[in-house]
This record gives sequence, structure tokens and C-alpha cells, in this order.
Amino acid sequence: MHDNIQTIEYGTKTIQFNLSYSNRETLEIAVYPDQTVWVTAPEDSSLDKIYDKVRHRRRWITKQIKHFDRFENEEQEFEYISGETHWYLGKQYRLKILQVGNEVQESVKLKRGYFVIHSRKKENADYVKTQLDAWYREKAEKKFQDRLMVCLGIVQKYGIGKPKKLKVYQMDKRWGSYTTSGNILLNPDLIKHPVYCIDYVIIHELCHIKHPQHDSKFYDFLKKVLPDWQKRKHKLEGYK
Ligand SMILES: [Zn+2]
Repeated sequence: MHDNIQTIEYGTKTIQFNLSYSNRETLEIAVYPDQTVWVTAPEDSSLDKIYDKVRHRRRWITKQIKHFDRFENEEQEFEYISGETHWYLGKQYRLKILQVGNEVQESVKLKRGYFVIHSRKKENADYVKTQLDAWYREKAEKKFQDRLMVCLGIVQKYGIGKPKKLKVYQMDKRWGSYTTSGNILLNPDLIKHPVYCIDYVIIHELCHIKHPQHDSKFYDFLKKVLPDWQKRKHKLEGYK
């Protein structure tokens, strides 16, 4: 048994994978949620043959890697047209966008599996996006505070108290953050995910009150407070 890291190139792209051999008949390729690629080959396969097979599956591999890129998934391009699927608390809703005149109040509502949006500029994607984002932001402000209360109930027996403030704050590549000034910041996009995942991020940040660094003490503590944190993290990252 030996493990090693291999790189194949095609066009301008490369795929890196961990190669190991085992007593099996066929070659197996797996892509894990951390976006690493693992290839297990039969003991007697030549490196050339392995490279060929990996190259042959490259489209599938790239697709899997992309699937596990949480921010890639998060930043998918929306058109903001009727029929398009959007998410709220882990559930899917389709957009139904209705034109209204200037004298009519605009609104965003959840109704029977739809996001019903009354808009003065139905055809303007940026405009509808602003309406929907404002709705998400408002829900996030409320829901995150509610969940903070629930999560505080879980962590208080481990000696963790309230953070100074919880703020909804747009961050580029993070779900949450615990600042040096004692505030918790949460990405508004979290509101698109299940409460189960929102709680994970809040509890993760609350644990930083006791252990600011991502060291082994932090992870030991997190595991004690929230034994299934990894499951929740995987769910948040799109691993099903
Ligand atoms: Zn952290």
C-alpha cells in the first residue's frame, strides 16, 4: 500500500488527486466535500492507464468539485424571472413576479410554495433582486436573533454568555465571524439555509468567545457543545 498525490493536466486546467492502490478489480474515483479527489486503483494498474481513466472522467470530476464549492453554489447567477427557484430556510420557492402600477404598494411574500413579488419594474432583474434581497435581509435580522437565543440556551451550561452584538453582515467567503470587539457577524445568505445549519454557524461563533483560534482546544470544545457539528457543516456546504 502506498499513497501519493498526482496531477494531470488537460488544456489549461489541472486535476490533483490522491492515488492509492488496493486489491480490487476496477478503478474508483471519489470527490469529497472538501473538494479533494481520491483515486483507488487495482494493484497492478500502470500509471498511464490510471491517468487515462482519470482524464476520461475529468468532466464529472470538475462538476463534483464545483458542486462542493459552497460559494460557487451560493453565487449562482440568477435571472430574477418568474419560475426561477430561490431558497429560504432550506426550502425551494419559485418566483412569481407581478407588475404593479406606481400607485400600488410593492411587496414580497411567501405564498403556497412561491415567492410572490409585486414589482413596479417586473422586467428589471436588478430591481427585483434588490426587492428580494431586502426581504431576505429583513428575515435574517429577525431569524438570526431568535436562533441566537436558542443557541445561547445550548451553550450557557458550558460557561458561554451573550456576545456584545449579533450583526447581519455581508461577507465574501465566510458564513460567520467573531470579531475582536466581541461581536458576532453572520452572512445574510445563511437565511437561505436550514435552521439546523444556521444554528451550527451561530454555535461555532459562540465557541470562539471561549477559544478565539481554530486550534484543537476549539474543536474539542465545539464537539462537546455540538456533537454533530460536522454533519451540519456538510449540509451547509451542499453535501447530501
Ligand atoms: Zn471560526
